[in-house]
Order: sequence, then structure tokens, then C-alpha cells
Amino acid sequence: MAQLSDDCFAFGGTLLSVEAAAALITGRVPPLPGQELAPLAAARGRVLAQDLHAPHPLPPFFNSAVDGYAFRHADLPPGGESCLALAGRLAAGQAAGAPLAPGTACRILTGAPMPPGADTVMMQEDIRLEGSVLHLPAGLKRGANCRPAGEDVPQGALALAAGTRLNPAHVGLAAALGQPALAVRRRPRIGVFSTGDELAPPGGRLGPAQTFDSNRFSLLALLAGLPVEPVDLGILPDRAEATAAALREAATAHDMLLTSGGVSAGEEDHVRAAIEGQGRLVFWRLALKPGRPAAMGIVRGTPVLGLPGNPVAAIVTFLHLARPLALQLCGAAPEPLPRFVAEAAFAHRKKAGRREYLRVTLTAGGGLPLARKDPREGAGLLSSLTGSDAFAELPEDCTAIAPGERVAVLPFTAIF
Ligand code: AMP
Ligand code: MG
Repeated sequence: MAQLSDDCFAFGGTLLSVEAAAALITGRVPPLPGQELAPLAAARGRVLAQDLHAPHPLPPFFNSAVDGYAFRHADLPPGGESCLALAGRLAAGQAAGAPLAPGTACRILTGAPMPPGADTVMMQEDIRLEGSVLHLPAGLKRGANCRPAGEDVPQGALALAAGTRLNPAHVGLAAALGQPALAVRRRPRIGVFSTGDELAPPGGRLGPAQTFDSNRFSLLALLAGLPVEPVDLGILPDRAEATAAALREAATAHDMLLTSGGVSAGEEDHVRAAIEGQGRLVFWRLALKPGRPAAMGIVRGTPVLGLPGNPVAAIVTFLHLARPLALQLCGAAPEPLPRFVAEAAFAHRKKAGRREYLRVTLTAGGGLPLARKDPREGAGLLSSLTGSDAFAELPEDCTAIAPGERVAVLPFTAIF
């Protein structure tokens, strides 16, 4: 196949950069209205709809961080061993009673409230107890081994910001602040179509010239990791009217639509024309490899993304277009794809102008992790993804990478 001199103009027009596409998505699509209350057990992964300010300090009261003895630091003579009389005992859950008498120490267990007047705890391992007299070595700082009220979160402080995608630690903090449920954003309904007369659903029999539809399932699986409601809309035939009618109809019942395939420039590619015919095309074709033939449009107010048909390209464009669009609809704070630095253990040449993602395996090196390129680069080779650990990202202006150079990698464990 003849290589055009400049990939960026291969179809007679400039390709949109990935950054510019992301800016169009975040700039043009407002978050969906609507929120609901999610019990904590169902809050993981949802997007917080309202700021949570601490209704009380965390921890709620001054308490011991260890099993030991609580006392007033001023009762210790400067330097040398100190002796204090043992008086009282406080376990977790017991209310602090009378103030500590001068020259005494109270047995205290982790999480118990400090007796009034005490300001320091010595760990039981560091103390010698003779009868009811405690011998304390010198050198303990005032305030050691105890946790002031509000040390974790002061009362009134912003504990969780609206737009946070709740992870297990966020859920734990909400519980620690006494919240049984959280106001979260409504889950957008996202419909997923495959397109192509050659596609058969898995489970059926392959006719001649047919291949099983994989994109619908990889895209639905990718959506399952987001706070959205994925909807399987099946396979569209390669017919212009059917494609247009399906997009028009689905647009009213969903908050976002995803298609794969049929968005290139062949005569059986009907997705772009269907978007243009039923609504408005926002962009078409990205400076991205794999993933050039991708489109975004608006049909009846619903954003539609036409992703490429090649299975690896569908996944790469999902990550760059569908993920930020879905998060934007959810009202989530922007979450750039996580990138880490590795050392290239490969050589690779590319043309300037397109951002390129290579499939690499990662192994621990002496310093940085070593990224080894999968020799198979085809945009349709799913097993090159299942056999790799990460994408290596080569920026638009890069034309070559040599062994030993630093390269940004996006580990699948972090992006899938
Ligand atoms: P297209 O852009 O429609 O020409 O598709 C590009 C390539 O991706 C073709 O080889 C298609 O058969 C393949 N393809 C398109 N959609 C899917 C799908 N849902 N599952 C697997 N392969 C697909
Ligand atoms: Mg097709």
C-alpha cells in the first residue's frame, strides 16, 4: 500500500490532536443533572454530588494511640527516670472519668479517651511496673502516643469534594464522619452499538466471511469500570438508513452513545454520515495511532462517539474519548490517564504528528522498570494486548525512541 508523505493529511484534512479532542469534550458537554443517595455499601466508584464537610472532628475526642500509661508530662522531672503512682484504668469505649491526680498515671488502652489533665502516653513496652509504681525512662516528648481531637480531620474542614470518584478510602472516611449514605451523581445511561455486516454475536455460529463481535464486549467491560449504566444495543448492519435511524432512536433513550466500526472513509462506513445527518459532527479523525478514524457528534442533544472498528484502536480511543466524556457527564473531576516512567528496551521509529501507543511488557529493572515492545503492532491484534502489561506513549513530536531512553507508560492495571 502506498504510504502518503504526511499521515496527518492522509484523508485530505488535518487530524485533530488528542488534547484538542479532549478539550472539545470537556468544553462542550455539561455534566448531567440529577443525584441520588447511595448507601455506603453501594457508594464505591460513584461520583460525589456534594462537598462533605466534617460535621465533627475526627477523631472525635483526645485519645491514646497505644496500650500504655497516660500522665501529665509536667509531672516528669527533667532528665533521668521518673516514678509515678498508678491510678485508674481506661479501656476503649469507656468515658474518661475524673481528672488525673498530680503525680499519677492512668493505665490506658488504645482508643480510650485521655483522662482530663493527661497529655502524654508511654507505651507499656517502655515502662517498668513495680507494685503500683511506674518507672518511666527519660526522653519522652510531651504529646507522645496520643491523638488529639480533629488530628485527622478538623470539624468543618472539607473532607470530600464534590466530583470525587469514591474509592474505598473515601467510603471509609465518610463512615468515620458518621455518614450512612452519600449524595452521588446519577449514572449516565450509555448505549453501545457495534456496526458491521461481518459481525456475529458470540455464542452463535460464524457464517462465511463472518467474525465474532468483540468490541461491544470490550467496550461494555470498560464502561463497567466507570460510574455509568452500560446498555448493550447490539449490532447495526452496514446500511446508511438503518444506522441513522438507530442513532436517532437511541439518542432519546440514552445519555451517551458509543459505536465501533464504520467510521472510516470506506463506502460501507455510515456512522459519520449518520451523525451529520441526524445532528452535528464535532470532530472526525484523530492524530492518534492506533485510533485515527474516530468521530464525535451530538444527536438530539446526546453525545455520540464513533470509535474505530479495529479492536485495539477501539480500546485506545475509548480511553481517550469515551472515558473523559463519560466522566464529564458524571460530573467527576477530570482524571488524566495515569502515566509512569519506564526505560525503553526497544527501538522504534514513527512519523511526527500523531501520538502513538505501543504495547509493552514491563519488568523490574535495576532502576526504572524496563518496557519491552510487543513485536506485533496491528490495530486488530487483541492478543497483543492480553499479552502485554502497558501502553508506551510516544508523543506527537517524537520520531524515534532508542533503548535506554525514558518513555511514559500507562499500565493496564491502572487504566482498565
Ligand atoms: P471498519 O472500520 O468498520 O472498517 O472496521 C475495521 C476492522 O475492524 C474490520 O476488520 C472489522 O471487521 C473490524 N471490526 C469492526 N467492528 C468490530 C467488532 N465489533 N468486533 C471485532 N472486530 C470488528
Ligand atoms: Mg465496518
